[in-house]
Amino acid sequence: MNTTDTQHQTRMQRKKEVVDARIAEAQEERGVLILLRGNGKGKSSSAFGTLARSLGHGQRGGVIQFVKGRRETGEYRFFRDHPQLDWHIMGHGFTWETQDRNKDIEAAQAAWATAEQMLQDENYHLLVFDEMSYMFKYGYLDTAPVVEALKKRPRHQSVIITGRTMAAELQDVADTISTVQDERHAFRQGVKAQPGIEY
Ligand code: ATP
Ligand code: MG
Repeated sequence: MNTTDTQHQTRMQRKKEVVDARIAEAQEERGVLILLRGNGKGKSSSAFGTLARSLGHGQRGGVIQFVKGRRETGEYRFFRDHPQLDWHIMGHGFTWETQDRNKDIEAAQAAWATAEQMLQDENYHLLVFDEMSYMFKYGYLDTAPVVEALKKRPRHQSVIITGRTMAAELQDVADTISTVQDERHAFRQGVKAQPGIEY
């Protein structure tokens, strides 16, 4: 082995020791609260990727979409018939186009009622509350009861909440927070939203 190879081997060996020690330290097994926030593309798709993982292990999942899309998404079409999954799209549906605040609040609270039930149900391993953060931003939901329900959820249950901005109260109780940064987006180069990529 030449010097470079030997150096590389020593460095990798040291790295492995550090990583192995960290793996040995992380012994706790429990559900986590994951927040996916930021202005870049990749929050909902990451959440649904994790959902695929979870379902792949035979776990039970629940999805609530708090912002109703303009059209049926590929993920909904793909996942909706899965026997281990319950998928709810908020009724009436807050979208960027609705301007009826009272109807929006009613819909948000109905969706929250479903979410709250799921948070008490031991059968769910993973819950995805997609775009829930907007409900706090627009004052359609209070954070206090949500934080309370998140804290009381079954120990093995994980929850993913997505949305560009995230309420500070949720960040306080989260285990994992990832911010997706917007460095570039094809939309700004005139590429339209395409099925399979955007929805
Ligand atoms: P995705 O569902 O693709 O993971 P997201 O959940 O991170 O995206 P949202 O804020 O929910 O992003 O926006 C949803 C839609 O807006 C998607 O079609 C996405 O491609 C698009 N989008 C996300 N970020 C940007 C951006 N910075 N500029 C333009 N369009 C964006
Ligand atoms: Mg999204």
